[in-house]
Amino acid sequence: MGKTGVWILGDQLLANHPALQAAEAEAGQENVRVLLVQSAARTGKQPYHRRKLVLLFSAMRHYAENLRERGYDVTYLKTPTFAAGLRQFMREQQPERLFTMAASEWNGRSFQQHQLAQIVGIPITLLPNTQFLVSQFDPYPNHNPDKNVIMEYFYREMRRHFDVLLENGQPTGGEWNYDKENRKPLPKNMQLPDIPRFAPDAITQEVIDEVEAAGHGVGSLADFDLAVTRQQALAAFDDFLQYRLPNFGAYEDAMTQRHQTLFHSVLSPYLNLGLLEPMEIIQAAEMAYAAGDAPINSVEGFVRQILGWREYIYWQYWQQMPEIVEKNSWNAKRPLPTFFWDANTEMNCLHHVIERAIGTGYNHHIERLMVLCNFCLLAGIEPMAVNDWFLAHYIDAYEWVMLPNVLGMGLNADGGVTATKPYIASANYINKMGDYCGGCRFNHKLRHGEIACPFNFLYWNFLLQHEETLRANPRLGPNVLGLRYLADAERTAVCQQAKQFLAEEIGR
Ligand code: FAD
Ligand code: SF4
Repeated sequence: MGKTGVWILGDQLLANHPALQAAEAEAGQENVRVLLVQSAARTGKQPYHRRKLVLLFSAMRHYAENLRERGYDVTYLKTPTFAAGLRQFMREQQPERLFTMAASEWNGRSFQQHQLAQIVGIPITLLPNTQFLVSQFDPYPNHNPDKNVIMEYFYREMRRHFDVLLENGQPTGGEWNYDKENRKPLPKNMQLPDIPRFAPDAITQEVIDEVEAAGHGVGSLADFDLAVTRQQALAAFDDFLQYRLPNFGAYEDAMTQRHQTLFHSVLSPYLNLGLLEPMEIIQAAEMAYAAGDAPINSVEGFVRQILGWREYIYWQYWQQMPEIVEKNSWNAKRPLPTFFWDANTEMNCLHHVIERAIGTGYNHHIERLMVLCNFCLLAGIEPMAVNDWFLAHYIDAYEWVMLPNVLGMGLNADGGVTATKPYIASANYINKMGDYCGGCRFNHKLRHGEIACPFNFLYWNFLLQHEETLRANPRLGPNVLGLRYLADAERTAVCQQAKQFLAEEIGR
């Protein structure tokens, strides 16, 4: 039996990688040659958060080490491109065939489908991606792209198929959805748990030095503390189950300037790299409910994020690619304000949220959706400029998750395919769900005037500019109907102030 190559992509660090298993079953472990490539072109394509780069490269190197300890022959290459790495591997190892698993992103997958065979010149086996449950079961296999798929129904189909939180075919606890119980603001003096920190070892320190020396990217590497192995990611998950899951549901939409992660899991970076897998997370959460360690609203709320939103977003990405990148249904053309790059704004919510993104590469969902994207949608910022900023700033950012979340859910630029209504809100929502407004120079109650909150006049300005389109959306009726109570003088004032603000902050 000749040698058999296995190319493992950097975000496929699965404990049981299907390509490795298939190659081993066919050729025997002694004939398997594993390849991991760190491509300079891929990671230098645009700025990324330095913590994300260290996480990715350190996790890849630890993964390679772990495979070596398990007896595999592993080649880890740092090359200008993937093609260069693959050619070098072919020259050095001379495998007779190559196994690999389908990339989660469009460009990676088209490279595997259309260029890989020519580059390596040997037979290729491209296996389905197992990092997503929707790759095993598609609830809408004959989907008509002209029809909307609502996340809630998608999620129920997934629960039924994978038999999650069901009792005799009915939802555990009697409801499919506990959202009504899950919108609580945070009590003022509530103790908030810290998340576990993992000190860098020699491998991580080496990567930190390399990323620092390279000099590109955004954000700081001070106090790098992310999990870089499966073992550490599992420890991070256990900590979540024990200390945060019970309160996850009630406070999942809450925001506070006194704590960054509240009761969120901070597992997305590890799930997106393959260090953790969705079904093991879901089953452990179900077991926590069965053991009486967490209430149903928290467990269902968490399962909904993984089995519902995460899978739905990945499904939407493949439904909408590649056209989604061109979508701009609100015809938004403005560039991002410069304060997105330095957090230098008097708007307290935006200041804190952007400062956290730059500092740590993390914001929780509501900060991403209802502060950052809400502002960008109301201010008419060009969707791909917003997408590129998000891609640059988050430790969990990958194209498959970013495009449908930013262009679809956050900016509604895809014409309502991902989310049936634009998520827009005035300062009232931000004040209700968080404590930023108390420390802000602006007044969250005022619609216009010198200290009026910009979210307010931008919100009303947006309703006025897009009144006709918004009226046609049944889910937005009440917001637009509110316009009836806006006197002419108020209309003129909010529009003028929005115009002035946008000219001063953005230049147009
Ligand atoms: P938790 O609140 O603890 O949720 C648990 C898990 O559910 C997350 O780890 C994640 O895997 C999954 N999840 C929940 N919502 C989503 C969603 N909408 N899409 C995909 N997975 C979801 N998530 C990313 O992984 N990478 C991104 O680059 C990213 N960008 C986003 C941009 C915008 C504008 C928005 C609105 C959302 C984005 N999300 C992204 C989704 C979500 O905000 C993050 O997954 C979540 O905040 C990560 O923190 P957590 O692990 O503490 O999540
Ligand atoms: Fe943000 Fe407006 Fe509240 Fe200030 S007043 S924190 S800008 S919502």
